[in-house]
Amino acid sequence: MEYVNPEGLRLDGRRPLEMRQLRAELGVIPKADGCSAVFEMGNTKVIAAVYGPREVQNRSQQSNDQALIRCEYSMASFSVGDRMRKPKGDRRSTEISLVIRQTMEASILTHLMPRSQIDIFVQVLQADGGTRSACINAATLAIADAGIPMRDLVTSCAAGYLNGKPLLDLSYVEDSGGGPDVTLGLLPKLDEVTLLQMDSKLEIETFESVMQLAMEGCRAVANYIRQILLSNTKKLESRRGV
Ligand code: UDP
Repeated sequence: MEYVNPEGLRLDGRRPLEMRQLRAELGVIPKADGCSAVFEMGNTKVIAAVYGPREVQNRSQQSNDQALIRCEYSMASFSVGDRMRKPKGDRRSTEISLVIRQTMEASILTHLMPRSQIDIFVQVLQADGGTRSACINAATLAIADAGIPMRDLVTSCAAGYLNGKPLLDLSYVEDSGGGPDVTLGLLPKLDEVTLLQMDSKLEIETFESVMQLAMEGCRAVANYIRQILLSNTKKLESRRGV
């Protein structure tokens, strides 16, 4: 299959190094007693809800030095149309929940909130590739909105390699093309990688260019997240009449 046509355009009309359109919104479940955010990367749309820091539900998991972070990733039944989707609790969801928890834990200042628990729920509303990245970005927004202290924003983006070209932010069709798919989690200010997943082998030179591309994607996400947080703060200030 031709993923990049002779004019240099991908199946959805993007250039190889172009990201999908980003869109985010904070406070999407205003009645809930936590903070929430929606994050879209093109047709991939996810929602994150964050609760806590609050009392640890299972006392045996309580730690006197740090907060307990829990994460649950799930896909809504309607999120993938008629494509394969296993019920909640499948291996893929368990793995992605773990990966997101570890990625967020690397930035949250857990030692400032001992004997407490923070729950991060992420649900895929529409899946078109890159759902774990979108969930990390949504979780970052919700955590920042909840005022939970972090070392830096956590941002994520994937990049792949098809038809001899590195491609940024793969869609489902591109993801299914059989090429490598590198998902990166980056703390943009500290320039620290907190997540690196790759689903097939890649030559080192190619890997480096794909990884650089994913890093650029993460930085673009970081700029966008900062804009959203800033405009949200301005909105709150104008409501309070500051
Ligand atoms: N997908 C699907 N059904 C499933 C699981 C995944 O249609 O049961 C699609 C969905 O679009 C997802 C893509 O396959 O985004 C790639 O899934 P992967 O496991 O690589 O994770 P992701 O790229 O979403 O982080």
